Amino acid sequence: MKFDSITQAMASVTVLQKYYPVIRIRNAGNGQILCENEKTDAPQEAPQSVPFLGECIQGVEFCIREENGVLEIITSVPVTVDGQACCLELIYLDDMRAGSTSLMHVQRLAITDALTNLYNRRFINEQLPIDLERSFRNNDPVSFIYTDIDYFKMINDRYGHIAGDNILKEVADVFLKNVRRKDGWVARYGGDEFLICLPEINHLLAGKMANRIRCSIEARCLHINGENVKITCSFGVETVRKESGIHSINQVIEMMDKKLYQAKNKGRNQVVT
Ligand code: GH3
Ligand code: MG
Repeated sequence: MKFDSITQAMASVTVLQKYYPVIRIRNAGNGQILCENEKTDAPQEAPQSVPFLGECIQGVEFCIREENGVLEIITSVPVTVDGQACCLELIYLDDMRAGSTSLMHVQRLAITDALTNLYNRRFINEQLPIDLERSFRNNDPVSFIYTDIDYFKMINDRYGHIAGDNILKEVADVFLKNVRRKDGWVARYGGDEFLICLPEINHLLAGKMANRIRCSIEARCLHINGENVKITCSFGVETVRKESGIHSINQVIEMMDKKLYQAKNKGRNQVVT
């Protein structure tokens, strides 16, 4: 590509600034940077439309490098500016350091259940042992609420899977409204089963929370395909302490399963503490 001047060369790529935060022109001979545009949040002047003047792009180089946690993806296009051999560098940057928004986004996705937006099983695996250890170190209890939607298969069969998915989202919403962030976290264990972890919360309080959630779900009226649908959930509540000898996720789930089983056996829509 041939340009008469640096200004003309930069103007011709203004539109690309949307995609490349840094665009620069470098002297191909001595490597000197002749011009560099960094994207800012300030409003930019409307780009002058200057067409590319070259016919073909030969010798385009592509380079990916990482420095201090910042990934640079550089596409280097040979151009001629005012008769001088130059490189037009289109630079995409991705800050991968902790605290960077893109990395946080990816980390958040990895521990989030895509349907309900609650935490997922991976989060349970990572966080539960940390919470147990921390609470036990301070001689604090950790309470758990384990819950499962009643007759959910029937809802799927009758109203379809999409309606079933919407119910899972509604139920997740009720959990989030009833569990303050400072009290603990809510995760989808799998299917229609959810685990609520409440560090430093005693058994009595956890039981009350479970009952409040049970009532909120029962009171909610859902509209599916023009029909009013009521759903309920069954709940098991357990509290562990250092001396309980519970340290692993499997032990917690096994213990919770038993309580939930009792709630189902007692007729569902129950809290067993
Ligand atoms: P119970 O009262 O004993 O819990 O009866 P149930 O019918 O709810 O039985 P169970 O909990 O074993 O059934 C879970 C059902 O959840 C089975 C499966 O088809 C359905 N399911 C699991 N994951 C999803 C999902 O992501 N979306 C939908 N729509 N259904 C799901
Ligand atoms: Mg169920």
